[in-house]
Amino acid sequence: MKQSYAIVGAGPMGLVAALEVLRAGHEVDVYERDDRIGGMSASFDFDGLAIERYYHFICKTDTPLFGLLDELGLRDRLRWTDTKMGLYCDGRLYRWGTPAALLGFDKLGWIDKARYALHVMHTKGIDDWSELDKIGAIPWLQRWLGVRGYEVLWRRLFELKFYEHSDRLSASWLGTRIKRVALSRRSLLQESLGYLDGGSAVLLEAMERRIRELGGRIHLRCGIDRVTTRDGAVSGIVIGGVERAVDRVLSTAPIQYVPALVPDLPADFAARVRAIENIPVVCVILKLKQRLSENFWMNICDAGIEIPGVIEYSNLNPGSGPHIVYAPFYMPKTHPKFARDNQAFVGETLGYLSRLNPQFRPDWVLATHCHRYDFAQTICPPGFQAMLPPMRTPVRGFCMADTSYYYPEDRSISESVQTGRALAQAALVEEGA
Ligand SMILES: Cc1cc2nc3c(=O)[nH]c(=O)nc-3n(C[C@H](O)[C@H](O)[C@H](O)COP(=O)(O)OP(=O)(O)OC[C@H]3O[C@@H](n4cnc5c(N)ncnc54)[C@H](O)[C@@H]3O)c2cc1C
Repeated sequence: MKQSYAIVGAGPMGLVAALEVLRAGHEVDVYERDDRIGGMSASFDFDGLAIERYYHFICKTDTPLFGLLDELGLRDRLRWTDTKMGLYCDGRLYRWGTPAALLGFDKLGWIDKARYALHVMHTKGIDDWSELDKIGAIPWLQRWLGVRGYEVLWRRLFELKFYEHSDRLSASWLGTRIKRVALSRRSLLQESLGYLDGGSAVLLEAMERRIRELGGRIHLRCGIDRVTTRDGAVSGIVIGGVERAVDRVLSTAPIQYVPALVPDLPADFAARVRAIENIPVVCVILKLKQRLSENFWMNICDAGIEIPGVIEYSNLNPGSGPHIVYAPFYMPKTHPKFARDNQAFVGETLGYLSRLNPQFRPDWVLATHCHRYDFAQTICPPGFQAMLPPMRTPVRGFCMADTSYYYPEDRSISESVQTGRALAQAALVEEGA
């Protein structure tokens, strides 16, 4: 029987879930609080240049994304670049990410370098992450790399992304990230990362078109305030004080919003949801006259710089316009810096550039911007798999997922595609039950 579905959120996950449900023959309305589709992968007008608020690269292992690109006739928009990686450590920029770079890195001895290489090779081969779900990322790294290897290569990255939560991350969460990037290579010597010609907007807009062709509707600036229930099942949604009747709701909003969105969820279920924590990001984006470096990705392990890395997006996607650099400041809201205004983050980033490239001059800066997202990175402690509440909740007709459900995989649009499909299936199966 045809049912009416409301989807919360028009990020990639919400759009994919909408397509699945429409294909099953149902009526679909997608509600998005923002003034545009895309969520974390949305674009904005950066001084005349349409570009993502946050950088996006694609890896060779992003199979669900490739399937969606094929479905939408977009495979020819996928481009691959031979990318370079750098490591800025104690005042010096090193090459990184190749066997030769590792051999030439003078901060580690031969034994530590061998341990590092063995760890990457070992991690690349892991398919079953269940054992690593039980242990912490830091003890796992220290066991493989030794205390010095961990100290030089990883400690600062953890501290600058997770701060007081650094020792609450599972080894499987970290391992899948290492594996994803390590497998995205053209050869042992060459990393190869992808992007969409035209940016993530090309994919988002194609999904939007397909949703409309299938009879679905997308409502922007239309946040859902509450999901109402009757006899333990969804009965409607409330937007701006007005209730609309719906049969089912699929939420792809960060799940931290769910307890307030669905006040009729049982208290123990809401408590499970509340136990999942997130780190926000404040992300600075710069448009520069000159290249900052030859690297796409530069990790930073340096006591004087309080960002874990910078991403020079134009070294991945040369068609993205002038030289584009992103500097993500991840930090819990409790960090004193979080209360600063955006301009303070821009100023701090600009203050680091002459260290990363001594030739940098302030007149290279053509434009600056800064975006924030409150739920940018889930904190996935050991045992996280068991912590995740089921997508089908105790309220019949209300299913939910968000980026936490990628676990143990890394945050990516590809994982949103996979999870969006799983979410739609969870609802469709419930309906058939
Ligand atoms: C700094 C950064 C770097 C990244 N780098 C990469 C990368 O290199 N490669 C890659 O593939 N991915 C990357 N990602 C991740 C990628 O952007 C996300 O995985 C993906 O966009 C998540 O999409 P989503 O639809 O699952 O969730 P979201 O993007 O979180 O979308 C949820 C949507 O729900 C909406 N919403 C919330 N509450 C309501 C409500 N009550 N009513 C209506 N709407 C609501 C929100 O406005 C939002 O649009 C990065 C993300 C960040 C932040």
